Amino acid sequence: MSGNVLLITGGSRGIGRAVALKAAAAGWQVAINYAGNHAAAEAVVETIRQGGGNGRAFQADVGEPAEVMALFHQVSVHFGRLDGFVNNAGIVDQTARLDEMSDERLERMFRVNTLGAVVAAREAVRRLSTRHGGSGGAIVNISSMAAVLGSPGQYVDYAASKGAIDTLTVGLAREVASEGVRVNAIRPGIIDTEIHASGGLPDRARDLAHTIPMQRPGTADEIADTVLFLLSPQASYITGAILNVSGGR
Ligand code: NAP
Repeated sequence: MSGNVLLITGGSRGIGRAVALKAAAAGWQVAINYAGNHAAAEAVVETIRQGGGNGRAFQADVGEPAEVMALFHQVSVHFGRLDGFVNNAGIVDQTARLDEMSDERLERMFRVNTLGAVVAAREAVRRLSTRHGGSGGAIVNISSMAAVLGSPGQYVDYAASKGAIDTLTVGLAREVASEGVRVNAIRPGIIDTEIHASGGLPDRARDLAHTIPMQRPGTADEIADTVLFLLSPQASYITGAILNVSGGR
């Protein structure tokens, strides 16, 4: 198979799945990382193959740096190249105030959403940057409007973990801009995926629709369209940008 290779963390469900399917349709070969839902990841791969594309699923917990490094190694071995990376895997937790949160919760939140994303960005730069013999490429980090809004009374820990992604995007973009690598981020607003159920609020997207200026949650496809744009040659002069895709929220 030929075609540029894209790695997406958390590509088995939600926004990552939508990115994987749209990327495959646009001609990318797609490496899909997942944490535990093997069936969902394989279903995405199967859909890609039925559409004539090339995809493969790779299990790794992005909260474990050694697993992130092994993931990038396996993708390099299997596909022989890397051209784009979507830093998407992320978690929320039950709604709570900060003064109610355990050390274990905070450590898990920052390991997955922040440490995992920073280590993954490092591994991507080590393969994409011309400084390391790469051919250049693009990184898209998935932040959140929570990074700006702070999510008081819901999950300040999650919001803070995503604030770091905004800062990573700005700094890394400038660090590698002369090495053929563009780094941008998207701040989704409230998007209709299963992440809300994992935080104990399965109806959150619909319940909060009236608080969104556009009066509706966004879809995973709407985030994926923006990811595909930022990966594409049409975004060739865009780096260090953080796009709110949030219906005005
Ligand atoms: P989702 O539907 O819950 O899907 C999460 C994906 O991440 C799944 O593929 C899951 O894999 C994977 N994942 C979770 N923990 C992981 C780990 N430790 N290691 C590797 N993969 C892991 O979530 P989503 O709504 O699509 O969210 C995707 C990103 O968008 C996240 O970074 C989230 O913070 C951000 N975001 C979402 C919203 C929203 O309203 N949905 C808003 C703002 C930002 P398994 O299938 O194996 O569990």
